[in-house]
Amino acid sequence: MQIRWNFKLKPTKSQKIQMSQWLTTLRKHRNYALRERNIGFDTNNQDIDTSVVYAWGSWCDTESRTEYGSCCPLTCPVIKHGVVPRDLGKALKTSKGVVKWDSASGVQMKVTTQLRHEIPAFGNINSDVLQRNIAKLDAAFTNFWKHGRGYPRYLRALKSFEYKPKQVKIGSIKDSYAIFYLPGIGNVKMHNSRDLKLVKDVRTCTVKTSGGYWFISMLVEISDDLPQEKPVNEVKSVVGIDVGVNKLVAVSDGSFVENVRITTNSRTARRLAIRQRAASRKLKGSKNKAKAFKKITRTKHKLALRREGYNWQAASKIVKTADAIGREDLNIKNMVKRAKPKHDGKGGYKKNGASRKTGLNKVILDCGWGDLFNKIAWLAVKAGKPVIAVNPKHSSQECPQCGHVDKNNRSGEKFLCTNCGHTEHADTKASITIAKRVGLVFPKNKRTLPADCGKVTPVKTSTPKRVESRNHACESPCTQLSLFDLTAYTVVDSRKSKRYGKNS
Ligand SMILES: [Zn+2]
Repeated sequence: MQIRWNFKLKPTKSQKIQMSQWLTTLRKHRNYALRERNIGFDTNNQDIDTSVVYAWGSWCDTESRTEYGSCCPLTCPVIKHGVVPRDLGKALKTSKGVVKWDSASGVQMKVTTQLRHEIPAFGNINSDVLQRNIAKLDAAFTNFWKHGRGYPRYLRALKSFEYKPKQVKIGSIKDSYAIFYLPGIGNVKMHNSRDLKLVKDVRTCTVKTSGGYWFISMLVEISDDLPQEKPVNEVKSVVGIDVGVNKLVAVSDGSFVENVRITTNSRTARRLAIRQRAASRKLKGSKNKAKAFKKITRTKHKLALRREGYNWQAASKIVKTADAIGREDLNIKNMVKRAKPKHDGKGGYKKNGASRKTGLNKVILDCGWGDLFNKIAWLAVKAGKPVIAVNPKHSSQECPQCGHVDKNNRSGEKFLCTNCGHTEHADTKASITIAKRVGLVFPKNKRTLPADCGKVTPVKTSTPKRVESRNHACESPCTQLSLFDLTAYTVVDSRKSKRYGKNS
């Protein structure tokens, strides 16, 4: 199976400098390529000083995001002149004996190859890394047209570069570290936190920087396979989870995962605010300003790590609880939208609780619910357990006993049904409701008769096992029950049977 592993790199000082220089050049390269496509789209190449004669095509509309087939210079599968290189020969490509205009990315990749001979900064970079840079820009355009993402932006800082499959090689493996060969950079030491001997094949690798540290994210092919998901009839228990702000998770077995508020607890929030303020007051462009901001990024990086670790622990605890996990299907993006302004009708605004909402949004984002759900999903897949997302509507207002839905059922952490008087911790109750909505019904283990029902319970009087009775006529396991046949069966008074058990 393919799996993504992250490792922390231990590059030397010169390797760090080299990788930072690569990122600077790659950022310029990407921004240049984007600019070239934008100009092509805006001007239709009419003010570019070339004598190209081209056919008109219908342009794409960036407002409505309608793409007209092969005619857009931004994504430009074939003809259009989104990119017109100085050497026109580079704009053409031959496929199946027909000479055509190449796609924008095709042209830009060819120009990039030329740049590698002309400019030393480009020449130092691995050619495949440069090509992946263009491919990533293409992916950004595809995301814009097809997946509703934002229009590709000019980057102020690039944080990562990518290698094509099979380029990064794993060198010697020691207990605590290993050595990777990164083409163009050389042998880089890394903290070995996995069993690298399992790796059969290395696919795409992304080298990235965060908080002044360097990491590599590797897509690897390993020999292990994931277990099959349990079929529904083998699932014996289900756990519902309710994520919240006061308690991070309420589990339907009554336990909780506390919310430690990694970045929004008063101490950290204050510290971050002080450092941010101090950094913003330093002289613009000075070394001190750069140092101050470096300190902030490092703090934020550490906080993110802490949140990640905490969420892994919480996810592991939840997945171990039961055979199936039910969670709310939340739209977190909509939940953290800012408060809508309220007009007072005189050109002004009424109070709308915007600052309160902003504060709540910060806390919600600090919880990392989406991240927690992802971690639960992954751990559940590894354990072969299903995760079911259920509709969270009224999950905190619905009474689990009578099904009565009322806003007034809940007050703070207490749940008190206005209809039947059922009371419970509000978050636990919500998690139980979620577990119910998963819709799995389990047969009860013991069928017990209610007390004093007056029915007859068959009890065998004799014939121990393995001893053959000679008188087969006496053995009557399937005779009709009769209240008066006291030799074979005894009437068991339920009150007695409680006290003395079966033998009474
Ligand atoms: Zn009720």
